[in-house]
Amino acid sequence: MEIVERNNISEHEQVVFCHDPASGLKAIVAIHNTSRGAALGGCRMWSYASEDEALEDVLRLSRGMTYKSAMAGLDLGGGKSVIIGDPHTDKSEQLLRAMGRFLNHLHGDYIAAEDSGTSVADLKVMAEETPYVSGITEKPSLTGGLRNGDPSPSTAFGTFQGIRAAVKHQLQRDDLKGLKVAVQGLGNVGYRLAEHLAEAGARLLVCDINPQQVESAINKLGATAVSPEEIFAQEVDIFAPCALGAVLNDQSIPQLKASIVAGAANNQLAEERHGLALLQRGILYAPDYVINAGGIIDIACERQGLDELHLNHQLCGIYQTLLDLFARSTREERPTNIIANLMAEERFTTH
Ligand code: NAD
Repeated sequence: MEIVERNNISEHEQVVFCHDPASGLKAIVAIHNTSRGAALGGCRMWSYASEDEALEDVLRLSRGMTYKSAMAGLDLGGGKSVIIGDPHTDKSEQLLRAMGRFLNHLHGDYIAAEDSGTSVADLKVMAEETPYVSGITEKPSLTGGLRNGDPSPSTAFGTFQGIRAAVKHQLQRDDLKGLKVAVQGLGNVGYRLAEHLAEAGARLLVCDINPQQVESAINKLGATAVSPEEIFAQEVDIFAPCALGAVLNDQSIPQLKASIVAGAANNQLAEERHGLALLQRGILYAPDYVINAGGIIDIACERQGLDELHLNHQLCGIYQTLLDLFARSTREERPTNIIANLMAEERFTTH
């Protein structure tokens, strides 16, 4: 196994390249910042067009994890890893084991979790070689029984708390009864979020490219279906993006009729300037990495051996964090995405 270490790439503490010819593993681990603790972040597998593209992705994603964990108040730093390859055709037990052994060289400075292209089952294979993986333990659920390491239910619940905070700040309301919410994407997070919203008395407009998910939301949650193209322009109070990145852009923002954008999707703003565009239209934007931190909170609680009650308490903390952030944004008349970055940077130190 060949390990190449490159220090001081941009602002990162450590970037390590790994090549294991026997299994075909080519991977990069980027550790952005460990001032708050070990760098925890997903291990992504993707068929990158080039090593440079993979490097760019891992540098960007690991930096994002530093900000996310800091805003979630966790004693964790930011890191991420990428395995270069097609998760459908290039993944093998040998490759996952090699990745696990590779993580041992970092002595716990980086802890891997599930991400796009990897599953809890894959992480369990890595865990046979290394203790430096997370999010794989079965744990008791508050609703009874056991649940696996999948953090999506926590992401959905945390996002629901964030929507409550946005409603409090923007509409001065403590409940969601009768409010109209457009949910874009009914996957692992979006569907569960829709369940919380329906339970709270909100009226749902939903879209997904998977008709089965939409059908289920219509039948079980009383939702109304709209096409993916029409979701932005709905007459709603809240737009909740829970599918793709870059959905807040020059084309979509002018269409929005909602006064709140709050959802779980990562990287919702196509560019940072779109945060200002939302503010100028009087739309309150809940910064994505703050509102969708439930998953990382879940994994952090698992690592600390905390039970579901503690987890719930920490997830509910997203409500107050966002209220504080919104208040500062109003006070300073600056976009919420800029305030989120400032607040995060006040919570970690750079070298
Ligand atoms: P998922 O793949 O389970 O769900 C995504 C859903 O979006 C799918 O049902 C898909 O059919 C649908 N979709 C795709 N393109 C669409 C389109 N154009 N219009 C409408 N629907 C479309 O993913 P997930 O785990 O639910 O994650 C959703 C988002 O939240 C992603 O951006 C993810 O990065 C982010 N996120 C997830 C977690 C987590 O714990 N799973 C944590 C933080 C952030």
